Amino acid sequence: MSKNIAVIGGGFSGLSAASYLAKQGYSVTIFEKNNTIGGRNRKFTEKGFTFEMGPSWYWMPEVFDNYFEDFSKKRSDYYDLKKLSPSFSIVYKNNEKVEIPSEKEDLIVFFENIEKGAGYRFEQFMDDAKFKYETSMDKLIYKPGKSIFEYVRMDVLRGVFKLNLFSNFKKFVRNHFTDDRLTALMDFPVLFLGSAPENTPALYSLMNYAGLLLGTWYPENGMYRIIESMEEVAIDLGVKIETNAEVSKINVENKKVTSIIVNNEKINFDAIVAAGDYNHMEKLLPENSRNYDSKYWETRTLAPSSLIFFLGINKLIPNLDHHTLFFDESLDDHSNEIYNDPKWPKKPLFYVCNPSKTDKKIAPEGCENIFVLIPIAPDIEDTEEIREKYFKIIMERFEKQVNQNISEHIIYKRSYCINDFISDYHSYKGNAYGLANTLMQTAFLKPKLNNKKLKNMVYAGQLTVPGPGMPPALISGKLAADELISFFKN
Ligand SMILES: Cc1cc2nc3c(=O)[nH]c(=O)nc-3n(C[C@H](O)[C@H](O)[C@H](O)COP(=O)(O)OP(=O)(O)OC[C@H]3O[C@@H](n4cnc5c(N)ncnc54)[C@H](O)[C@@H]3O)c2cc1C
Repeated sequence: MSKNIAVIGGGFSGLSAASYLAKQGYSVTIFEKNNTIGGRNRKFTEKGFTFEMGPSWYWMPEVFDNYFEDFSKKRSDYYDLKKLSPSFSIVYKNNEKVEIPSEKEDLIVFFENIEKGAGYRFEQFMDDAKFKYETSMDKLIYKPGKSIFEYVRMDVLRGVFKLNLFSNFKKFVRNHFTDDRLTALMDFPVLFLGSAPENTPALYSLMNYAGLLLGTWYPENGMYRIIESMEEVAIDLGVKIETNAEVSKINVENKKVTSIIVNNEKINFDAIVAAGDYNHMEKLLPENSRNYDSKYWETRTLAPSSLIFFLGINKLIPNLDHHTLFFDESLDDHSNEIYNDPKWPKKPLFYVCNPSKTDKKIAPEGCENIFVLIPIAPDIEDTEEIREKYFKIIMERFEKQVNQNISEHIIYKRSYCINDFISDYHSYKGNAYGLANTLMQTAFLKPKLNNKKLKNMVYAGQLTVPGPGMPPALISGKLAADELISFFKN
């Protein structure tokens, strides 16, 4: 008889784990607490605007392509991709705005024009980043991270110095470039997606390669189309999906999970994939069945949380690109206020996404659909007054940059911050992207995929291997499924 498996959480990792398990013939049900699947990648519609609530940068397209190919499908059967050009824009001090080209030759010229010799050094930096990216994709990212021995192969060891695991990202970037504008451009992916550049291994320059050379893409019909496509794949494989289905307890007998409690109903299962935020998933278990205690979590370095505004604007903003990073204040100060001295930033950096520039369907005619995000430290005070204070700060700088009044044209506004991350996802301390990418939280040092005490329970998602972001979350689902498949086979 086919084994019954429960997947808790309907985000990228849960959908991915469910499909890989169903492909092997297991009977799989996803339980999602919210009224739609998607997790941090959900959407809502108000006043004719369709706002996406999380990811907006589609990087590493081959990870998504490989995912669909694993199920004998093509990504293009579900959605097309548009390469953005420019990839994105950055606003520097004194309101200087630059557009970051999408092609390598133009990037070399761009670097050279800002700093003499930087064009050549950019090529060198990218050759090295390409090596790291390819080595990681080939030998690191698809590993379950159970122990250091997975990585102890001669070819990986030989390359370990080239991977720069033990040197810091900040210094590494500054060995190549000195102009503040270039160092800020290179620091941005690690800062926004997970940790202070000085605490990040230089290995993560692979993200510069992914972001600058592999391109920034937009899926036809938006980011939620990825989730809908994954849902279609899952349903074709027979996966059942229950929404408004919060799991409140995981029952354990004789060192095995036996059942879960969903909306007060007890349902028996042969195995479980816990694909919600790791810390919360553990809390559903009896204390003696958890992998980690509260001290462990308290000593982790978390990735940032975010203050987000969804804005419907009743006019077009022609001089606003799809992605704009406001780096017009000190990056070091803001990074310090996220990671070293957690508090609301005095002079926040922020990011403005204007997807209606590329996709007209998500806003009424003649309107723009804007998403503004300020990365902030997790676990700081979150009140309406604070949100509003920061709204005023960023609107002033935003209006100055686009050189027009925006505030009077806002016809829809919603804010989203720490308290919402906690109530929507049971997010630990309101984090947005899981754990920071520090050396001590990389690969086999991340929270483990397997429950060490319960053989028929695994974890998936951005808090375990390989880490935060849509592509890693997809991969995490595959790794978790592989672990259960090998458990059943042995
Ligand atoms: C604002 C923001 C911007 C981002 N931008 C990008 C980007 O541009 N590019 C990129 O690649 N990545 C981005 N990310 C990161 C990316 O969205 C995440 O890494 C990814 O979506 C995580 O997927 P997951 O499956 O691990 O977790 P989640 O998406 O959080 O899914 C977990 C699910 O579990 C459910 N759940 C929790 N507890 C229970 C329970 N008890 N019972 C039932 N269900 C439960 C939750 O409701 C949730 O739906 C962004 C994230 C955020 C928040």
